[in-house]
Amino acid sequence: MSTQKYDLAIVGAGILGLSAALAAAKRGLKVVVLDRSSRAMGASVRNFGFVTVTGQDREHTWLRARRSREIWLEVAGAAGIPIAQTGAWITTQRPEATRVLEQFMASDMSEGCELLTQPEAKTRCPWLTHDHVGAVLWSPHELRVESVDAIPQLARWLSAHYGVVFLWNTAVKSIDLPVVSTAQGPVLAERAIVCPGEDTISLYSDRPGMGAISRCQLQMLRLDSPGYRLPGTVMSDLSLLRYGGFAMQPAAHALRSRVSTELPQFLDQGIHLIIAQSADGSLVVGDSHRYDQAVSPFAQESVDQMILEEFGRVTGRPAPAVRERWMGSYAYLANTPVFMDSPADNVRLAIVTSGIGASTGFAIGEELISDLLS
Ligand SMILES: Cc1cc2nc3c(=O)[nH]c(=O)nc-3n(C[C@H](O)[C@H](O)[C@H](O)COP(=O)(O)OP(=O)(O)OC[C@H]3O[C@@H](n4cnc5c(N)ncnc54)[C@H](O)[C@@H]3O)c2cc1C
Repeated sequence: MSTQKYDLAIVGAGILGLSAALAAAKRGLKVVVLDRSSRAMGASVRNFGFVTVTGQDREHTWLRARRSREIWLEVAGAAGIPIAQTGAWITTQRPEATRVLEQFMASDMSEGCELLTQPEAKTRCPWLTHDHVGAVLWSPHELRVESVDAIPQLARWLSAHYGVVFLWNTAVKSIDLPVVSTAQGPVLAERAIVCPGEDTISLYSDRPGMGAISRCQLQMLRLDSPGYRLPGTVMSDLSLLRYGGFAMQPAAHALRSRVSTELPQFLDQGIHLIIAQSADGSLVVGDSHRYDQAVSPFAQESVDQMILEEFGRVTGRPAPAVRERWMGSYAYLANTPVFMDSPADNVRLAIVTSGIGASTGFAIGEELISDLLS
């Protein structure tokens, strides 16, 4: 390790650490990012890469998602990260779900969105509009990147364009500024931001609130190309129960009650449907939500089958062959989208404690840097 002193050391090279690095580098700070892995392997590369704006919880998340979308567009152009898809296509099958969308359309959060009747939807996307489709909400705001490529590309661009230094294979053991102690030796920095993802044990585990953070585990699939292009990233009735901006609508009660009678096991497993499409036409499909303190190594085939069953209901066609399966997990704290703390002078700790880091990370990064420098 060198004797160079950095203005800022960031622990974690997931989307949150990279977002903080970008915000700091824009302010002219000399930044070092440390990650224990040889490359980012956490939640940030296992997700859909779906930057979701419409339907996010107004209270905490919607504004952050809008700001993050702006930064994603700016960064994608500059860093050469392809936007694989734009927009969201939220299709309903139950009248209660259509009612949720109608109520959502009456709110100011629907700006730019359109509620399409079934015949209107059919003219836009005949492949996805079958007899059981009630209505479709089209939102132009969403972006989708291929996370497994986008996150490493973002790190390379931060290094090349802003001179951000990346120290991989470098586990941080403790921070007592200006010394950041790592398994490879000390790194010197004026300030530190810790973005450890779901690792709430290695650093600051004794801080109030840290013990309450658990984990959410998700099952994901990649399917062969269906042979047509999706109009945007697809969601369905079940998604309306998971996204705060929809779930807050009065009609969501009736929808939940109907789904809990028809598909109780889907609610038990936290299953809803997102179908995202990659440049080669293949589909990233998920997901399920299992909450626990520990992450289980065992994927359940029955859960994958439920996800595929919902795919069939929503698209009106059998799912293409499964090409790949993986599990992901993120930190979880009920009713708290982001856990932030100041464990020491000039040190900030930030953990996204819900499934929204791809959608809100860039805005949170800006907030962290503003707070640290103020
Ligand atoms: C399957 C799945 C689907 C998802 N879908 C979406 C979605 O559609 N939209 C959305 O917005 N969000 C989604 N999310 C959530 C999103 O991916 C996360 O909120 C986000 O990636 C969290 O980013 P992070 O940087 O905090 O954590 P991570 O990406 O997990 O990065 C944390 C990094 O910190 C490093 N680290 C930890 N401790 C140390 C230490 N002591 N020393 C050195 N390095 C350390 C780790 O090695 C890791 O690389 C999804 C998540 C999953 C798992």
